[in-house]
Amino acid sequence: MQSAAIIVAAGRGERAGGLKQYRPLGGEPVLRRVLRLFAAHPGIDAVQPVIHPADEADFRAAAAGIDCLSPVAGGATRQASVRAGLEALSGENPAWVLVHDAARPLASWALLDRALAAARESGAAIPVLAVNDTIKRVNAAGRVIETVAREELRAVQTPQAFAFSPLLDAHRRAAREGRNDFTDDAALMEWAGVSVATFMGEAGNLKLTTSDDFARAAAIDALALGDVRTGTGFDIHAFEPGDHIMLGGVKIPHGKGLIGHSDADVLLHALTDAVLGAIAEGDIGHHFPPSEACWRGAPSDQFLAHAVALVKWRGGRIAHLDATVLCEAPKVGPHRDAIRASIARIAGIKIGQVGVKATTTEGLGFLGRGEGIAAQASATIRLPWGAE
Ligand code: MG
Repeated sequence: MQSAAIIVAAGRGERAGGLKQYRPLGGEPVLRRVLRLFAAHPGIDAVQPVIHPADEADFRAAAAGIDCLSPVAGGATRQASVRAGLEALSGENPAWVLVHDAARPLASWALLDRALAAARESGAAIPVLAVNDTIKRVNAAGRVIETVAREELRAVQTPQAFAFSPLLDAHRRAAREGRNDFTDDAALMEWAGVSVATFMGEAGNLKLTTSDDFARAAAIDALALGDVRTGTGFDIHAFEPGDHIMLGGVKIPHGKGLIGHSDADVLLHALTDAVLGAIAEGDIGHHFPPSEACWRGAPSDQFLAHAVALVKWRGGRIAHLDATVLCEAPKVGPHRDAIRASIARIAGIKIGQVGVKATTTEGLGFLGRGEGIAAQASATIRLPWGAE
């Protein structure tokens, strides 16, 4: 194994009014975003979460579907938690390890690239920012004692990057010698006599500590997701004898059914193609070939969920889904809100982000003759700048 990452998520986070790593940011738990960032990075082979034992249910929900190792229990201090992660990885013995705080969900791929490069180059390196504010030392009464020269000062972030074995050795030695007061891994390495290099951090790589931080992070997040894209989709299915149709994941009683390899949910198929189109990921037939028997009669919600997951893997978000159903019957209006709620649930968005309309074709053409149902859809998504 070349490179692993330890995600330190065992803190209790009282300052942010609860467990900050499980609070949502942009509709997802902070920890889920961090795990996905590292799991998706091609330079990182394994992601080792360290959690508080009491958070296991929250962790399972936050990490669902993400390719990371089983979490290990953290200790009483951050230092003990990092050590637990290192010990869990010691069997794999990776060459390099990044140690990252779960409370920093806005780190970029470029920062991870720099961290991996710095680990290889120096064996121990930390991301830093120059301090732009004037810094004063004050006494207990808040009176200024002196102005501190800031040229040599740096604010330190994570991920911190290390050769694995020296970091594990330093942690074991610190534990043996009863030193448990190091607030970051660099401090521990300094104590162990290792020279620690620095690389460029990111102003946007905020540590979410207070509720104010969450508000700032949400604003940064919205700005970062400025690459707005739109995709369209169209689908059509013919009627066959039956007693219901599936429309947007909702079963609607009808005097006929729809022919299809899956459950023939024409609306979810059009929406799936719209989402895939927005990320230029081919079409539904490419991802779920009708030639594969496993999709026979399959519920179509998994098709849309898959397309949405592909957006999320790019760090993106669904801004809006809109669709029009074209048919003479059944009447869609009475089911509209149930269909919207169903689509919202499948796509992991709010009902206000889902539009569903219906129209007849005034008796014209094959739809007018009641031979089938068509649907057209559009998906608006937001991607981070620089996404594929
Ligand atoms: Mg179809």
